Amino acid sequence: MKHWQRAGLLFILLLITACQPQQTSQPLHQQQLFTFGTLIDITLVSNNPQQAQQAIDELSTEFDRLHELWHPWEGGALARANQQLSSSVTFATAPSVITLIQQSQQLSKQSDGLFNPAIGQLIKLWQFDQLDNESFQFQLPEPDAIKTLVHQNPRMTDIIIERSQDSEPRIHSINPSVSLDFGAFAKGVAIETMIRKLKTRNIHSALINAGGDLKVLGTKNGTPWRIGIKNPEYSPKPSSNPVLAAIDLHNEESLFTSGNYERFFEFQGQRYHHIIDPRSGYPAKGTRSVTVLAKDAGLADAASTALFIAGPKQWPDIARKMGIDHVMLVDEDNRIYLSPAMAQRIELLTTAQAIIVK
Ligand code: AMP
Ligand code: MG
Repeated sequence: MKHWQRAGLLFILLLITACQPQQTSQPLHQQQLFTFGTLIDITLVSNNPQQAQQAIDELSTEFDRLHELWHPWEGGALARANQQLSSSVTFATAPSVITLIQQSQQLSKQSDGLFNPAIGQLIKLWQFDQLDNESFQFQLPEPDAIKTLVHQNPRMTDIIIERSQDSEPRIHSINPSVSLDFGAFAKGVAIETMIRKLKTRNIHSALINAGGDLKVLGTKNGTPWRIGIKNPEYSPKPSSNPVLAAIDLHNEESLFTSGNYERFFEFQGQRYHHIIDPRSGYPAKGTRSVTVLAKDAGLADAASTALFIAGPKQWPDIARKMGIDHVMLVDEDNRIYLSPAMAQRIELLTTAQAIIVK
């Protein structure tokens, strides 16, 4: 996402929260971090400024550490693991990488393989590792190269975790085309980790917001955290509303959105976005954005990506398999689909009629 887009989203969020009645019992401490490859806004409610600052500093250090550990190709534990996965060697890796693998194996299975962090080679083939490189000349991948990788069928179950009592767990891959990219999951797991850290520090009212992917703790001085959801078809015209919907979040709720407008390149007038359908090897078709509300931020993150790929027809089935009740999907024709539970919670700020799918 470009910086101005992120800044726009923050503005939307502040605008909505500014409309709340102010019950100023405890001050808000807000800080914006550039970490984890994105802008992260932290809001803590606390009477103790020193406690709040120490917590924010800890979160900043921890976000930096996890970003390095979990980056798929830049020098940390996951990048080293990716080099070794293409051979059949068995090796030890960071415990947190093992945990990511284990959780992803489960989520990938629940999503019928649509959420598939084993497709790192496909993501590289599409050059999505270059999206932040402004001078990069994007090309379309060779169709044969896409076909070959899809045929090689890298899956999370291709990674075998070996545990023994007296040494650390070790892993190996039974498929050399496996390369791990946790871009659809790591932000959620990191936010979940940070929320746990805040609770350990006795902070029970907070919002951690990574450009619209977020989790809340407690309330904002007695009122729920009111969040704006970006309109995926927004263009800077007077008739276009940048906010599609608003929702009140309660203690420990997470809200994650996957959108085709977030990261993409253009080639010969066509847009190619960053969410790949592992069945075709091409960017998933049919969806503009999916928003998922769930308690666990890692689950919300993985599910928003899986349901984006599932698309307007298949999402209710995959949502059920992943245990997700609250979904909003906007399709390519801007039709809005809501699960019944989401319809109960969300406030649409558009005249369009939503379709409630049971
Ligand atoms: P998100 O914005 O959470 O939907 O995550 C999108 C990111 O996840 C992409 O930038 C890729 O790094 C990665 N990704 C793309 N397609 C998939 C997929 N089918 N399964 C898992 N991760 C994916
Ligand atoms: Mg995701």
